[in-house]
Amino acid sequence: MAVLVAGGRQDEGENVARMLAAAGLPVRVTHACDRAEILQAIGERSWDAVLAGRGATAADVRWLVGLLRDRTLAAPCIVLGETLDPAFVQEALRAGAADWVDVAGDGWVALLPALERATQLAEAQAALRRAEARWAETERLYRMVAESAGDLVCLHRPDGACAFASPSAAWLLGRPSEDLKGTGFLDAVHPEDAARVQAALRRAAAGEDAVSVTHRMRRRPGDDVWMQTLAQAAPPGLGPAGAVQTTSRDVSERHALQEQIAHLALHDPLTGLPNRALFMDRLSHALTRLKRRKGTLAVLFLDIDGFQLINESLGRAAGDRLLAETAARLQAGLRPGDTVARVGGDEFTVLLDDVREPRDAGRVADRVAEALAAPFPVDGIDVFVSASVGIALAAARGELAEDVVRNADVAMRRAKQRGRGQQELFTPDVHGAGSHPRLELEGELHRALERGELRVHFQPIVSLASGRMVAAEALLRWEHPTRGPLLPDAFLGVAEDTGLIVPIGRWLLDSVCGQVSGWRAHLGPAAVPPIGVNASSGELAHAQAAAQFAATLASHGLPPAAIRLEVRLAGLPDGAWAALGELAAAGTPVALDDFGGGATALGDLGRIPLHALSIDRATVQGLGVGREAAAIARTVVALGRALGLSVAAEGVETEVQAAELAALGCDEAQGHHFARPLPPDAFAALLASAPRWHTGRPA
Ligand code: C2E
Ligand code: CA
Ligand code: CA
Repeated sequence: MAVLVAGGRQDEGENVARMLAAAGLPVRVTHACDRAEILQAIGERSWDAVLAGRGATAADVRWLVGLLRDRTLAAPCIVLGETLDPAFVQEALRAGAADWVDVAGDGWVALLPALERATQLAEAQAALRRAEARWAETERLYRMVAESAGDLVCLHRPDGACAFASPSAAWLLGRPSEDLKGTGFLDAVHPEDAARVQAALRRAAAGEDAVSVTHRMRRRPGDDVWMQTLAQAAPPGLGPAGAVQTTSRDVSERHALQEQIAHLALHDPLTGLPNRALFMDRLSHALTRLKRRKGTLAVLFLDIDGFQLINESLGRAAGDRLLAETAARLQAGLRPGDTVARVGGDEFTVLLDDVREPRDAGRVADRVAEALAAPFPVDGIDVFVSASVGIALAAARGELAEDVVRNADVAMRRAKQRGRGQQELFTPDVHGAGSHPRLELEGELHRALERGELRVHFQPIVSLASGRMVAAEALLRWEHPTRGPLLPDAFLGVAEDTGLIVPIGRWLLDSVCGQVSGWRAHLGPAAVPPIGVNASSGELAHAQAAAQFAATLASHGLPPAAIRLEVRLAGLPDGAWAALGELAAAGTPVALDDFGGGATALGDLGRIPLHALSIDRATVQGLGVGREAAAIARTVVALGRALGLSVAAEGVETEVQAAELAALGCDEAQGHHFARPLPPDAFAALLASAPRWHTGRPA
C-alpha cells in the first residue's frame, strides 16, 4: 500500500508511518511538504490514499481533491487534524474529502479504520465506474445492432453460396430474402462489380478482417442501388470454418454525392462542359490510342470575338448566359463522340477524335461558325457572335496533349489577327512567324517614327443625301523600307501592345493638323471638312490625352470641331471615357467606330455626348447577301435616329450597297465605291475639285 501525506508538520510523514507500522500494515509512506512536491508525487505514481496533513485549510483540501479528480485518481483523501472544528470538517467533506481523523491525544488509532473505510469506498466507486463503462460499451454495441437492422446481413458458405439473408432484403432490394440464397446474392450484384465482390468474399473467408467493397446491386433490371458491403469471417458457431458474414448498406446517396463532387472537379459549372483538366485527360488518351491505330486527330481552339465588350456593355450575367448558350450550340453542332470543353473565360476547345484530312477539321470549324451565326437573344437584344478558330492536327507522332492545344491556341491568335470569325490551321512556321518577326517589327516601328517612314492617307466620307464630301478619315500607313507600304493591320497590334501607339498617334494628329491648316489657308476654311482621326484606347487612357489633343489643335490654329475622333467601344477603359467626355464637351465630335458588330452596347451610348455611329465594313459587305446584315444596319440607323446621332457606313464598295444604305436612311458613307484612301496631295486635289458622287438616292 502506498500513502501520500500532503503538507502538515515537518514530522507528519514520520508520524503516519510510525502509526501504520505499529498496526502491522505494510505501508510505504511518502511526505510531500508543499504543493510543488505534491504535484510531483501525484504525477509520479499511483497512491492508495492521500492524507491532508494537520493545518490544511478547506481550500487546501479542495485543491487536493480537485487534483486527484483531474488525474482521475481513485485515491481517497483523508483529512488529519487536532481538535477539529466541526464546521471545518463539514467543509472538507463537502470539498470532496472521503473521511477525517482527529489525531489529538491518542486519536491516531482512528487512522487505520478510516484508511480501510476510505479504500473500500474508493474501490466500490472504481467498480461502479467500470460497470458504467461496460454498460456504455454494451449500449454502443446495442445501438450498432439496432442501426444495422436496416442493413442486409448475409451468411455465406465457404463455397460462396448464400445460406442466409436478412429480411431487410425486402426493402433494400425489393425482393424476398429467399431470392438471395444460393447464387442469388452474387446474381443480384451488378455484373461489372461481381468479380470485386467475389474477391472480397474470398479474402474474408481466408481470414482477412473487415474487407470492404462498394458495388451496385440490382433492384430490378436497370434500377441499381449502390451498396457498401463489409465482409468478415462469420462469428464462431455461425456456420463452418471459412463461412463469411456480410453486412451491406445502401450508400446510394453518398455515392451520388461523391459522383457530384467528382463531376464538379472535372466540369465547368457555368456550361456543364468538361473543363480543361478533363479535356487534357481525354486528349492524352486519344493521343495514346492514336499511336496504336494510326490516324489523325484535331483540336479546335475557339475564342469568341469581342466577348470582353459583351461582358462590359451588357453585364456579366448576360455574358454568362451567352457562354452557356454558346456551349449548348457547340455541343448540338458536333458529333456525340467529340469532346467540347470550356478551357477559359470565352475559350472553348473541341477534340475531333478521327479526322481523315485537314479539310475535315475545317468543315467542323465551318459548322461551328454556322452554329454561332444566328443571333443570341440576351436581355431583349440580339447579340451577334463569331469565333476565331485555330486548328491543330496530331498524327501518331507522340505529340503531347499540351503541345497540341498550344498549337491550336497559336493558330487561333493568328486567325484573330485577320479579323473576326476567321479560322487558321496550325503549321509549324505559324509558330515562328507569330513570335519572332513580331519582335523585329517592334524594333523597326521604333525606327519608323524616327526616320519618318509613317504616312497619313485621307479617305473621303460622302453624304448619301447630297453626294458631297462632308468629312474624311485619316488613315495611317507605313512606308516600310524593304516590305513596301504596310496597312495598319500589319503593325497596329504591335504598336498597341508596346505602347508605341501613343507617340505614333501624337505624330499622326500633329501631321493631320498641319495638313488641315495648310488646306484651310489655301482653299478657305469652308472647303475643308472635319477630318476623322482614329484613336486606340491606349492613346486615350493616359491622363494628359485630352489636354494634349486640344493643345495640338490650338498650336495649328484649328478650332476643336476641325478634327473628329473615331473610337471603338471594345475594351475602352474608364480613363478613356473621361478624356472623350472632356473633348466632346469642348466641341470635338466623337464617333463610335464599327458599331453594330459584336454586341450592341446600349449602356455606353449615354456616357458622353456623341456625334456619330458607324456601321462596320463587314455589315456593309453583308448587305444583299442575307437578311442579317440589313437587320443590323437598320438597327444602327434606328438607334442613331433615336439618339439624334448621324450614322456613317464604311467599306461601301458597290453602287448597290450605297443605294441600300441610302434607302435605310444612313447619312454618310465611305468606301472604294467613292474613293480609296489617298495620299495628301491627291486628297488636296480632290478637295479643290469639290466633286459630287452618285449615291443611288435622288439628291
Ligand atoms: P477603320 O477605322 O474601320 O478604318 C476603315 C478601314 O476600312 C480602313 O482600313 C480603310 O482603308 C478601309 N476601307 C475603306 N473603304 C473600304 C472599302 O470600300 N473596302 C475595304 N475592303 N476597305 C475599305 P485601314 O486603313 O487598313 O485601317 C484599318 C484600321 O486601322 C482602321 O479601321 C482603324 O481602326 C485603324 N487605324 C487606321 N489608322 C489609324 C491611326 O492613325 N490610329 C489608330 N489608332 N488606328 C488607326
Ligand atoms: Ca475609323
Ligand atoms: Ca471602322
